Amino acid sequence: MKYQGSCHCGSVSFQFDADEITSGVRCNCSVCRRKGALMTPYVIAPESLQLEVRNDALQVYRFGSGIAAHYFCKQCGIYPFHQTLRKKDHYRINIGCLEGTDPFSLPVEVFDGASL
Ligand SMILES: [Zn+2]
Repeated sequence: MKYQGSCHCGSVSFQFDADEITSGVRCNCSVCRRKGALMTPYVIAPESLQLEVRNDALQVYRFGSGIAAHYFCKQCGIYPFHQTLRKKDHYRINIGCLEGTDPFSLPVEVFDGASL
């Protein structure tokens, strides 16, 4: 499947090829519980994510170990993806940012990030 996504204002857009998304993952860590986003169940390799950023809009937030990178658009505040703690440099994508995929129609798994 070819997936295409963006933040709300379009300053950050991206695409990737991956298996069809048939479920989503939520995480209960201190940052994810505040965002509430539904993420892809698999990670995307950095070389597989084609990213386009305008106006230097992509910002990163790190905390704790500093390994996970939580990206957001500084124009519209939307969180399109993060780089995971568990697999360095690999991305999980916010399903709500993808065209043609309804995050509300997918079964949800909860990842216990709070216990890491
Ligand atoms: Zn934006």
